[in-house]
Amino acid sequence: MKKNDIFTGTCIDYTSEGLGVVKAEGFVFFIKDMLINEIALIKITKINKNIGFGFVDKYIRQSEERCNPKCKIAHLCGGCQLQHMEYDHQLDFKTNRVKTAFERIAKLEVSVNDCAGAVNPYNYRNKVQVPVKNGFDNKAVVGYYRSHTNDIVEYDTCYTQSDVENEIVKKMKIWINELNLTKIFRHILIKHSFNTNDVMVVFIVSVKDAKLKTLAEFVAKEFDNVKSVILNLNTRTDNVIMGDKEEILYGNKFITESLNDLVFNISSKSFYQINPVQTKYLYEKAIEFANLKSTDTLVDLYCGTGTIGLFAAKSVKKVIGIELINDAIKDAKVNAIKNNISNVEFICGDAAVISTKLIQRNEKIDVVVVDPPRKGLDIETIEAIKKMTPDRLVYVSCDVATCARDCAILSDMYKVEMIQPVDMFPQTTHVECVIQLTLAK
Ligand code: SAH
Repeated sequence: MKKNDIFTGTCIDYTSEGLGVVKAEGFVFFIKDMLINEIALIKITKINKNIGFGFVDKYIRQSEERCNPKCKIAHLCGGCQLQHMEYDHQLDFKTNRVKTAFERIAKLEVSVNDCAGAVNPYNYRNKVQVPVKNGFDNKAVVGYYRSHTNDIVEYDTCYTQSDVENEIVKKMKIWINELNLTKIFRHILIKHSFNTNDVMVVFIVSVKDAKLKTLAEFVAKEFDNVKSVILNLNTRTDNVIMGDKEEILYGNKFITESLNDLVFNISSKSFYQINPVQTKYLYEKAIEFANLKSTDTLVDLYCGTGTIGLFAAKSVKKVIGIELINDAIKDAKVNAIKNNISNVEFICGDAAVISTKLIQRNEKIDVVVVDPPRKGLDIETIEAIKKMTPDRLVYVSCDVATCARDCAILSDMYKVEMIQPVDMFPQTTHVECVIQLTLAK
């Protein structure tokens, strides 16, 4: 087999990126836009010793799980990888991704619940971050990156965004052109509280310009629910999106979001889960898996702005939240006061370092909840958790591969009882998981 050959193949599996897996003549091929059980004529684009890549030249049999992507540019944009799958099939894909990771990486025999789907698999994002480039004729190019490139694919409507987010991006593009601001714009950041309907718009720019104030006025005048417009100055040359210096151009510094009976301040930089509807399910699962008692001391590791710990606070004696970013800890403290919650302590610092200090305090820790970034837990943090020896450990993960790795390392002391995948990002390959672990007696 060689490049440009065409062969007939059947898709038998998926990669974690949602590519179809086809085996032929001892090679394993990875094919875009091919679903399990589909048969197609495949043209080879690249081939080496035992693996190859290709695309579908012609479908011979299509799957009943296939659907037409709602978005016209789904095949170009790097944002969504699964729009060609019916939603139920996307959920099966995610459940299987989790099962495969635990079998292959963790080598643990565990049962995985079906992935909990969203009622609305579209319009779910409460935050969008859209790159802006100065294009041909100094016209703004506004859109998302084509996968694995820095090229921007422009869009008219992004179906994972809310309507107001789409409308603001469209109008901003017109105004950025009118005001000749294309050269200084880097990103448009929009945060939309689904509960209060309040919106924050952040202009991320490389240079300050008086016309940005005019732009803020345009935005606020056109969109009643915009309650905050922030200028974020980013003069960096790397790919970090936000700069340090900020200025309020219109309205407040915060918008607020609520979750059950709690309210949270959301500022331009504070982290809040992207899919607020599914977040409720995610946190409720985490709390359920923690089997909380009124006498418990709970450690919320990687607590961000304190949301999980505050959610748990009324069911336990005490919560200790630990987080690396000082601004997030400040927000967490404000969030505790805002919600009249006093049995919480928030500490800024590295998870492993602060956990080690807690052990020295000799405090009995009953439950630990961890919610690390994609790279998962480092070995020092795992050691610290083992030394804290909580009876119950809940792992909230946004990367199943690192989570499976960590569960394997924990498995000499902790038994994986239950795994609940949750679909926080419909149409994409991302899958969130809540894992219940208990101290093996
Ligand atoms: N549990 C929160 C935040 C989860 S995001 C929520 O649901 O909203 C992961 C958090 O881990 C981020 O806030 C990040 O700043 C923090 N973090 C990353 N590395 C860390 C470290 N080494 N120690 C402590 N916190 C860290």
